Amino acid sequence: MHIAFAASECVPFAKTGGLADVVGSLPQELAKIGHKVMVYLPRYRLTKLDNPRRVIRSITVPFDDHYRFCSVLDGGERNGVQFYFIDYPPFFDRDALYGTPLGDYHDNAERFALFCRAVLEATKILGKPDLFHCHDWQTALIPILLKTLYREDPGLAQTPCVFTIHNLGYQGLFPPEVLPLLMLPWDLFTMGRLEFYGKVNFLKGAISDADYITTVSKKYAQEIQTAEYGFGLEGVLRARTGTLTGILNGVDYSEWNPATDAMITANYSTDDLSGKAKCKQDLLKEFGIASETQLPIVGIVSRFAGQKGFDLIQQVADRMAREDIIAIVLGTGDREYEDMFRRLNKQYPQKFAVKIEFNNRLAHKIEAGADMFLMPSRYEPAGLNQLYSLKYGTVPIVRATGGLDDTIEQYDPATGKGTGFKFREYSGEALLDTVKSAITAFRDTQKWQNLMRNGMSQDYSWAASAREYGKVYERVKQGRPAPITS
Ligand code: ADP
Repeated sequence: MHIAFAASECVPFAKTGGLADVVGSLPQELAKIGHKVMVYLPRYRLTKLDNPRRVIRSITVPFDDHYRFCSVLDGGERNGVQFYFIDYPPFFDRDALYGTPLGDYHDNAERFALFCRAVLEATKILGKPDLFHCHDWQTALIPILLKTLYREDPGLAQTPCVFTIHNLGYQGLFPPEVLPLLMLPWDLFTMGRLEFYGKVNFLKGAISDADYITTVSKKYAQEIQTAEYGFGLEGVLRARTGTLTGILNGVDYSEWNPATDAMITANYSTDDLSGKAKCKQDLLKEFGIASETQLPIVGIVSRFAGQKGFDLIQQVADRMAREDIIAIVLGTGDREYEDMFRRLNKQYPQKFAVKIEFNNRLAHKIEAGADMFLMPSRYEPAGLNQLYSLKYGTVPIVRATGGLDDTIEQYDPATGKGTGFKFREYSGEALLDTVKSAITAFRDTQKWQNLMRNGMSQDYSWAASAREYGKVYERVKQGRPAPITS
């Protein structure tokens, strides 16, 4: 089948979070099982391309009283997947993808509307797909346009769209005036379509108009249909319940594998764990901590966003600093949490080591050098770091939500079964108690190594998930979307 992916980020071209990992890996897996995949991305300032060829010189995108003209670059083929980039420097040649620490870019609605229209127009020239697979609010206008303004376009009519929600917390909310600006009809501004408490909600429109909705874990697919996790869209999602399914994100083990990882000091595997001790020493050195310590290290690599549960750490940080554990933290994001971690680092330099930056090499070093990995998320659609942690023998401590709950099995010291430590209640106390249990378990080296091996032998590679996406595509193409049961 011929599938056109549209997304706002993709490894190795541009990344702020897990979406980029997914869009970097899934198309390759689909290509391996015989699908033809084209991936459409914006060309950002940081997108590095070798001699890109301009394959479409000009696409006209109308706005209320003016036209904008973008072009399309051929980014070449990688591992059987064709990449195209929508090039429009006034919108995408900027420092960041979505905004600055002070807030989102004011013209994000226009930026991604231009991207969506350009993708639709480009596919008419570069090859009409059997279906579109769109990701998150930035591409939500594609299913909306297909069902409205493009409905009668013979070049695209009847092309179905699968839409994946990677994070319901980001919906693309804009004032109603964006509708005339983007030349979208006012009749979309109803409760049954894009209207959401007086604003325009792109994601809501995509949920209504896509032919099939997927999200990135089975648990999250259930959670988003409840008031607690639905961000106000639970009703719209429940209305789609028969055509909504969760497919877990996989891991690209060619990048995240301690046996082959070139970014870490020493490689290791279940057969020989000795390299991990060297990685630990290297990590301590990298973060300026005395390297002869016997204490366990708990790693954190994350966007600093409310979703990630850092308010729980804030509640108990001073007590955590007195425990037999060292926290090594890498992340960027909300000012509040950047400042919190800076303060903890200043107050407890040997217990909270912190780097406020986005650094893939350090992310690998933390996965390899830490003993435990902490993800106390308020909600977590899939989560990738806990999967990387399993592979690196870095025992996950997680809150039991979304993909974290689906992928981490509570460790039972009596039977030796399980892969990590989980807590359910969203409280600092529950977090601290669980960290303490992990510290206690760490003291029994033999049992701890077995626990590490339990995790390292888990297989979350993409192949199985790609097959599930294949089933969804097949149903959608046949025009009879029905629930997928596996
Ligand atoms: P989310 O998509 O919500 O950010 P995921 O766990 O799905 O969460 O994916 C996060 C991805 O981003 C992982 O690959 C993680 O290693 C990476 N990442 C997050 N913050 C940083 C950082 N500061 N430096 C390097 N990589 C980071």
